Amino acid sequence: SLTIGIVGLPNVGKSTLFNALTKNDVLAANYPFATIEPNVGVVGVPDPRLDRLAEIFGSARKLPATVDFVDIAGIVRGASEGEGLGNKFLANIRESDAICQVIRAFKDENVVHVDGKISPRSDIDTIDTELILADLQTIEKVLPRLTKDARLQKEKARVLTAVEEAKAILEEGRTLFAAGITRESDQGRLLYDLHLLTTKPFLYVFNVDEDELVDEAFRKEQQELVAPAEAIFLNAKIESELIELDDDEALELLQSMGQDEPGLATLARVGFDTLGLQTYLTAGPKEARAWTIKKGATAPEAAGVIHTDFQKGFIKAEIVSYEDLVECGSVPEARAKGKARMEGKDYVMQDGDVVEFRFNV
Ligand code: GDP
Repeated sequence: SLTIGIVGLPNVGKSTLFNALTKNDVLAANYPFATIEPNVGVVGVPDPRLDRLAEIFGSARKLPATVDFVDIAGIVRGASEGEGLGNKFLANIRESDAICQVIRAFKDENVVHVDGKISPRSDIDTIDTELILADLQTIEKVLPRLTKDARLQKEKARVLTAVEEAKAILEEGRTLFAAGITRESDQGRLLYDLHLLTTKPFLYVFNVDEDELVDEAFRKEQQELVAPAEAIFLNAKIESELIELDDDEALELLQSMGQDEPGLATLARVGFDTLGLQTYLTAGPKEARAWTIKKGATAPEAAGVIHTDFQKGFIKAEIVSYEDLVECGSVPEARAKGKARMEGKDYVMQDGDVVEFRFNV
């Protein structure tokens, strides 16, 4: 499955956040015999639709989609030079599908900042710089060979152009993601074989003081700083307290801070979206479940997420949209009202499709 690597300078609250994430681990709750790796937190994506489906179908349990967060220790200035921890740090980031930077905004004299001052902008620059330098090194390594090959092969010439453009952006101190060169873009595809770090999607968690949670001007300023990436605002210490409370108490504490959901829930949702994922839904007496697919997945690909045999033997999918199902109150009623559709193998799945697959075995 796809993973989000958590990075940040020392003392910004990464461990506090990560501990909260792992305590929230849905694997532990739903799959008691699953092997849980110490540096991976599997977090449920909150989905109120599952509650409603479980009511309609009388489902015994609810299984949300999940996002995997990986704790990547060891960013230090000079990481890109590949000394000791630096190498491991870069290798771990290379394996992640998205990069989540944790940025300190909270003030606390008892917690030392490595640079002696609280400055989100300069922290982001420090981390970006290491990633940018690592990408520039990768590019320097391939350039001589690529330049040679480009004289003879048209395809290589196109790659060379993309690499030279990427190099210019990086030399300006910008990440490729910020410049719009994502893995899915035309240029990103040409750069694919280089496995550059800064074409990965970024997201930013600002670990803030309580008053900053509701400070719209502050939030807007930080959001603009990291655009086109998403900014999430939370207080890691409060998040770690929230998960110890029962639902009612947690809600009360959240509301007293002007929040309507825990920061971890926002992080899971935004992270899921940043990875380019979406869900479709299934429900029955056993379980109501959200399944993870890539945006743009077809019906047989969606079936394959449940079982490869479902994809191989795919005949069709009976689909009712979540809204129609809730309005009709049951699948038979939705069928009677003409709201159930039979879709074939070219159908592109939509978020909120409630599905039953028909297949040959
Ligand atoms: P890491 O080095 O980035 O993993 O940071 P830690 O999670 O170990 O946190 C460093 C210190 O900051 C610890 O003493 C935490 O208790 C404290 N800390 C973490 N988050 C917050 C926060 O939101 N507010 C305050 N005041 N302290 C925090």
